Amino acid sequence: MNDPNMTRYGRFDQLDRSNIISYHTDMNIISTPSTLQKLQLMGDATEHEPAGDRPQQEKQQKPLPHQLPCISQVATPSGPKAMMKAMMTTACERNCHYCVFRAGRGKTRRLSFTADEMAASFDVLQRSGQVEGIFLSSGIIKGSVTTQDKILDAAEIIRRKYGYSGFVHLKVMPGAEYDQVQRAMQLADRVSINLEGPTASRLNALAPKKDFTGELLERIRWANQLRRGGLRASLVTQFVVGAVGDTDLELLSLSEKLYRQMGLARAYYSGFSPVLDTPFENLSSIQPMRELRLYQSSFLLRDYGWSVEELPFTSDGLLPGDVDPKRAWADLHLRHNPLEVMQATREQLMRIPGIGPKNADRIIQARRKGRLTDLSHLRQLGIHAPQQAAPYLLLDGNHPSLQLPLF
Ligand code: SF4
Repeated sequence: MNDPNMTRYGRFDQLDRSNIISYHTDMNIISTPSTLQKLQLMGDATEHEPAGDRPQQEKQQKPLPHQLPCISQVATPSGPKAMMKAMMTTACERNCHYCVFRAGRGKTRRLSFTADEMAASFDVLQRSGQVEGIFLSSGIIKGSVTTQDKILDAAEIIRRKYGYSGFVHLKVMPGAEYDQVQRAMQLADRVSINLEGPTASRLNALAPKKDFTGELLERIRWANQLRRGGLRASLVTQFVVGAVGDTDLELLSLSEKLYRQMGLARAYYSGFSPVLDTPFENLSSIQPMRELRLYQSSFLLRDYGWSVEELPFTSDGLLPGDVDPKRAWADLHLRHNPLEVMQATREQLMRIPGIGPKNADRIIQARRKGRLTDLSHLRQLGIHAPQQAAPYLLLDGNHPSLQLPLF
């Protein structure tokens, strides 16, 4: 790298000359940092907003040494990708009780980017091979419509001026206008409309200035209409779990409706953890296992054809932490009535713990060619731990032997 202006992040010298703006601590202007400094100061501001397919791992990841903290490894269907996850501003005029960026929280460093500055930063990172996509969110300043315009402006510049055709994930602000939702879905591969709570009263307890039906659910309806009208962007939402007595039954009942009726691509369940100097600072974090059980159940609803009534809720509407929901169902229904693998339908095969949609398809193909009589046959089809499936199935009429050949 002989160019003295080329950093490991690209030509930030160019950005810094043209895009210096102020930043604030406790809303007082104290300095004029460069774009690079602001990206470093912003840190992993979106750590509680997952963007990929493995949200729990995404949250735990720390940036690599010498990597900007806004760069996260995100799981995508085509493998892990480094993604720039950033906010147009970390200032906000709303007061969501759980949020580090809520209005009036003195400990939060407030930083803002212009649309040009954000787009140019991404272009530098993308062209230098540091990232392969962008997730763009924001605090709300001067209303949702003005804030949404800034996000859209940045995305427009990324697409038009810089000609970027790769992955863009945009946040839709609560209360954004119809045309803005439409433009976001034209520009992005994925949009987030975060419901935060599973009912209007839960949302009110979490975020008193957000309107569940008017500001959020309505935008989800619009996004669904727009998708049906031909826009390709997928739709995701996020819930803050465990701060205000929300139950798994509430969260998964709404998730099921959104999957079935609104074309939701996925729901994220972000376990609450308290932030100092917020109204919820003295509440307890939820157990990570609750998030895991919610994700497992959500996939059963979305990908396996389950209904929420089939999930093993306790009387208080929570999922048991000590057992995978699919296994709990199988213990109840299949242990004494195992499924015959040579005859079961695809849907029935996917009820067996350890067998997912791909494995069910492989079994159906394989049994057309010959008999599956041994657990080793299942392992050859890509089922990694067939002994876990063994109590719930028959192979050619027989309970399988749990003894697998070593080679
Ligand atoms: S609107 Fe968003 S950024 Fe603002 S306080 Fe609420 S959750 Fe935080």
